[in-house]
Amino acid sequence: MYADGRPVTTLLVKNIDHLATFDDARREISGGALFVRDNVIDKVGTTAELAGFEADAVLDLSGHVVMPGMVNTHHHMYQNLTRVMVQEDELMVWLKTLYPIWAELDDDAIGVSARIAMAELIHSGCTTSSDHLYILPNNCTLDSTIEAAREIGLRFHAARGAMSRGESQGGLPPDRCVEKEDAILKDAERLIHTYHDASRHSMGRIVLAPCSPFSVTPELMRDAAALARQHPGVSLHSHLAEELFEEKYCHEIYGMRPVEFAESVGWLGDDVWFAHSIFMTSGEIDRFAETGTGVAHCPSANMRCGQGIAKIREMLDKGVKVGLGVDGSASNDTSNMFMEARLALMLQRVAPHHYLSEKPGGRGGFGGTPTALSAREALEMATRGGAALLGRDDIGHLAPGMSADFIAVRRDQLGLSGTGRDPLAALVLCGPFRVDYSYINGREIIGKGAFRSFDVEEALADHRAVMNRIYNQ
Ligand SMILES: [Zn+2]
Repeated sequence: MYADGRPVTTLLVKNIDHLATFDDARREISGGALFVRDNVIDKVGTTAELAGFEADAVLDLSGHVVMPGMVNTHHHMYQNLTRVMVQEDELMVWLKTLYPIWAELDDDAIGVSARIAMAELIHSGCTTSSDHLYILPNNCTLDSTIEAAREIGLRFHAARGAMSRGESQGGLPPDRCVEKEDAILKDAERLIHTYHDASRHSMGRIVLAPCSPFSVTPELMRDAAALARQHPGVSLHSHLAEELFEEKYCHEIYGMRPVEFAESVGWLGDDVWFAHSIFMTSGEIDRFAETGTGVAHCPSANMRCGQGIAKIREMLDKGVKVGLGVDGSASNDTSNMFMEARLALMLQRVAPHHYLSEKPGGRGGFGGTPTALSAREALEMATRGGAALLGRDDIGHLAPGMSADFIAVRRDQLGLSGTGRDPLAALVLCGPFRVDYSYINGREIIGKGAFRSFDVEEALADHRAVMNRIYNQ
């Protein structure tokens, strides 16, 4: 439906200046066109090739670059209530400072912050996102976040996070921030039965996501994996190899490296993806490739927190599935997919060469290399890569039979002038940008640069009210 309530069954998008499909042949089409039937792409070609198809609605995107909607694979949306805090401390201090503040959250705050995060994401080109909600104090649930995704029209994978190992049990979080493990599993089951839709073009799936090796027990990791694997399409997500203190913790408590710990609890596999995965040996990267385990690369957060540089070039060369994640709004502190693609490229290029696998043109020494990651590879991680992490074969590229999730950026704007030689690479090299059009599941969410039905001002007012109520700010 369009904003005016008119049902649209077919849509012809034509005269696209530059259509980057990211399909199996990686076709890029000048004068491109898409024919969409309901929520699914029916045909992709040139405007001339699709000229004979009559559609209920026609969208002329001359002057625009069009590409698949991007997939955000790691986020903690509630954190936009605590942006710009703990600016210069390492993650352990960052967490210990923020845990008690997050302990004041309630369902209303979580829903309101999710709407803000989702609007930010969609405006920056995201059409599918996961959200890892791992702190659920005051009987909070994931329901208000899922409701926010439905309201705004975002394709959404809700990751039921969890912390069960409080300080008194040797974990990092304070005891009042953790839950009982049987309650976590029971709630996970409720969410699967209430919201999980494994079908093609699904708008909502559930992910089971114990937070990290230092905040849950091995039993919860095992039980969550077993529960997820009883339900097709329910995948597994967590943080792993993010910090050296985590490596030390795993050594001291489990006598293992983080990846060994993950494997010991059944957490390597093509239904598992981890955020960060910075501190990985080459052998561990091989293991990820062999098992189909995926990585959500979060360059902004890794730089913001001074953590390090994930070996993304080596992972890609070895066939590890890699997607992009903006990570939580308290460690980024934004939710912009174009920014993430740009910084992924920049960060690999300045990575010390010994982090990179051998490539022709590599410079050696400790210098970076401009061949480390291309603009197209960065966008591919943001689209096809993210789709693969989430276990989706229906999003991430534009081809017949795929979900109608696409974005358009107007080329006639200050930041894109002079980029006619390569308008697609310009989205990374000149960005970040906001999208002028966003279609999700065939529905126009943003048109001519503005949300069609979502009220941004109202969402901001709600956000301010929550900040006042909870944090007196
Ligand atoms: Zn995270």
